[in-house]
Amino acid sequence: MTESPANSTSRLQPLHEGVDLSAVDRSIRKRAGGMLLLDYDGTLAPFVEQRDRAFPYPGIREMLGELIAQHRTRVVIISGRAVEDLRPLLGIDPLPEIWGSHGWERLHADGRYEGPNFTFQQKQILDSEWDWLQKHFDAARLEHKPASVALHWRGQPAETQTHMQEVLGERWNRYRTDPALDLHAFDGGLELRAAGKNKGDAVRTLLHEIMEGDVVAYCGDDATDEDAFEALEGRGLRVLVRGTPRPSHADVLCPPPDALIGFLSLWMEGD
Ligand SMILES: [Mg+2]
Repeated sequence: MTESPANSTSRLQPLHEGVDLSAVDRSIRKRAGGMLLLDYDGTLAPFVEQRDRAFPYPGIREMLGELIAQHRTRVVIISGRAVEDLRPLLGIDPLPEIWGSHGWERLHADGRYEGPNFTFQQKQILDSEWDWLQKHFDAARLEHKPASVALHWRGQPAETQTHMQEVLGERWNRYRTDPALDLHAFDGGLELRAAGKNKGDAVRTLLHEIMEGDVVAYCGDDATDEDAFEALEGRGLRVLVRGTPRPSHADVLCPPPDALIGFLSLWMEGD
């Protein structure tokens, strides 16, 4: 961390006209109740080569722990990662509420867990593709997540990678036009996901569960957070956590980690 950040909105940058930062500052300080929605990768934690080492920026973990302990703000993590994946990375006890797998999973703050409610067709396809993957590839290259299955070829010899891509591409081509599934190419592999849920669905559900006057903000960095920003239109502050602006539905830009730490500090204070 560099110098101590200002506990205010002073480091946020408006992304459109009509953003009144001092009004935002006041509403957060004077709130009776509040809900802070947070993406994980790229927002609370910097991107690193090893995904399982993507720990929060220094100071973030302690701040979230304190915010939760204050009981004045409902803290909710909304991520594309599986809940089980986030648990050790967050390292907070007690954990906040977590929506994982792009909204397919929900771990309540009291520990109750709701798993994915797939359609029969989605479940059938994910199960059968998992069986097929196991028959055709080494188990070490496979990943079975709550709402997806994936094959990883990173680190394999170039020839093997090409072969894996071809075999899988031919098999999964059938799902390219299937609205029940999404094909997601990532660096070093391909993933088949159940489609139909996004972070916006999670935000809409959460907005139904709070009081009318509760102050709400969502902090996120990438394209999947735009669904959440849209869902929050007119109801909360949309915070784009990145160094430079890009086309977005967000209201303010918040360069991490300093501006983000300043913004979280503001939620910890109160009048
Ligand atoms: Mg992110």
